Amino acid sequence: MDYDVIVIGGGYAGLSVGALLSHKGYRVLLLEKSRNLGGRAGYQERDGYTVEYGLHANRFAAEGAAAAVFRRLGRELQFISPGEPELWREDGFQPLPNNVGKIFKSPVLPFSAKLSAARYLLKLVVGRPERKYQMSMEELTSGCRSPQTLELMRVLSGIGIIAPDLRHSSAGEFAAFLKKALRAKVKVGYPKGGTRSIIEGLREELEKNGQVMTSSKVNRLMLKKGVVSQVKTDAATYVSRAVVSAIPAQEVPELFGGKDLPIKFVKTARELIPTAGISLDVGLRERVSDKDGLLVTSDPVSMGQFTSNIDPSMAPEGKQLLSWYYPLPLPWVKNQEKAKQEEERLRDLLGRMFPGIWEAAEWERPMRLSMVDGFLPRPGQTREDRPDFTIPSLDNFFLCGDTTRAEGTGGDTAFNSAIHVSRLVDEYLEGAAKEGD
Ligand SMILES: Cc1cc2nc3c(=O)[nH]c(=O)nc-3n(C[C@H](O)[C@H](O)[C@H](O)COP(=O)(O)OP(=O)(O)OC[C@H]3O[C@@H](n4cnc5c(N)ncnc54)[C@H](O)[C@@H]3O)c2cc1C
Repeated sequence: MDYDVIVIGGGYAGLSVGALLSHKGYRVLLLEKSRNLGGRAGYQERDGYTVEYGLHANRFAAEGAAAAVFRRLGRELQFISPGEPELWREDGFQPLPNNVGKIFKSPVLPFSAKLSAARYLLKLVVGRPERKYQMSMEELTSGCRSPQTLELMRVLSGIGIIAPDLRHSSAGEFAAFLKKALRAKVKVGYPKGGTRSIIEGLREELEKNGQVMTSSKVNRLMLKKGVVSQVKTDAATYVSRAVVSAIPAQEVPELFGGKDLPIKFVKTARELIPTAGISLDVGLRERVSDKDGLLVTSDPVSMGQFTSNIDPSMAPEGKQLLSWYYPLPLPWVKNQEKAKQEEERLRDLLGRMFPGIWEAAEWERPMRLSMVDGFLPRPGQTREDRPDFTIPSLDNFFLCGDTTRAEGTGGDTAFNSAIHVSRLVDEYLEGAAKEGD
């Protein structure tokens, strides 16, 4: 066999699982359809700016999932701690009340709202999150009479698990995030050098014992007696002992020509609804703000950062890079009129927050994104509902990425899935080797 493992997709998940398996001594081939690696966390150089694919930060920094992958590779991922997060509300910035202590000190909440917000946070963190998976945050807060508490819940669910609409936020998924957030010493970190340092670090590790091929779209997987026997691109056919798909699960059935897979898997994968929204990156020819923490708006819930205030290497000297993300329901993003209206709303909001921003802008990159995180963490799409790492009828095929049932949301799910899948593939290959002895 040419390779021990073929990994399909070179985003965070594919690069991580490829690097972890290469580190264990397996011969890995990673096939990526684009010219560049990184997938939804990719980056590009633009006139001295390093422009990432929208706002990217890592929950829990050195205690988070990306750092855990790097530790397993014997490497350290360095983080820069941003400033304190701030909330834009009623035309001014306030400290974001993102823990019980800050809630009680917050000038934006009346005393009754402080009490009820603390009570709901407590209700969320007590007990096992799994018990609340199928309950929405709207149900959990159904007795709440305080508009400020509900607003805070929308903001926290929005930034924590990208589910600002409480009807579509699983109380259990939010509780799992909160529990981790309350324990974590650092809530969020920005990787020094940006997502590039993650992508290039993983590529370097993978290439120690493996190979990366970009511009190589996998079109078809061929099956023989319950194993994936061939991986086909336009240019070639590859063979390996195990195959890891690290592309969104929604697209996996197509790799098999829409057949040969259990109906239950196909249905779950195809119907999985991602988070969506509008992203706006702005290159600024002069400084318009000194803010260096996560900035959040409450109406509508949106979030952003002056990335270059956190890591100055991301913009040319004297200039600034702003990245903003406005989560929206997928049908709104797909509706041209609605998306345009919301883009205008975001631009107006940014203009009010940072006077002079549009005069200072030397370029803008608006994006309408129909997939931000691979799944919206709502009831019916929780860890117990999402696609598993294996498919019962296929022996040597594994699923990785931010659409699987790994812990967390977004990048965390991608990294956590890679840790899990690298272990499963290792066990499978060792088992197969023993059988062959
Ligand atoms: C604007 C934006 C902001 C975000 N902000 C954050 C954040 O702050 N924190 C966070 O944790 N997460 C964030 N996320 C989510 C995070 O980027 C994703 O969860 C993560 O990058 C997903 O990684 P992945 O490897 O699972 O999937 P992907 O990145 O989608 O990787 C899949 C790869 O497979 C390739 N591919 C697809 N089909 C084929 C094929 N047939 N053959 C070969 N290759 C193929 C694709 O080109 C892609 O490179 C954000 C996402 C976006 C879009």
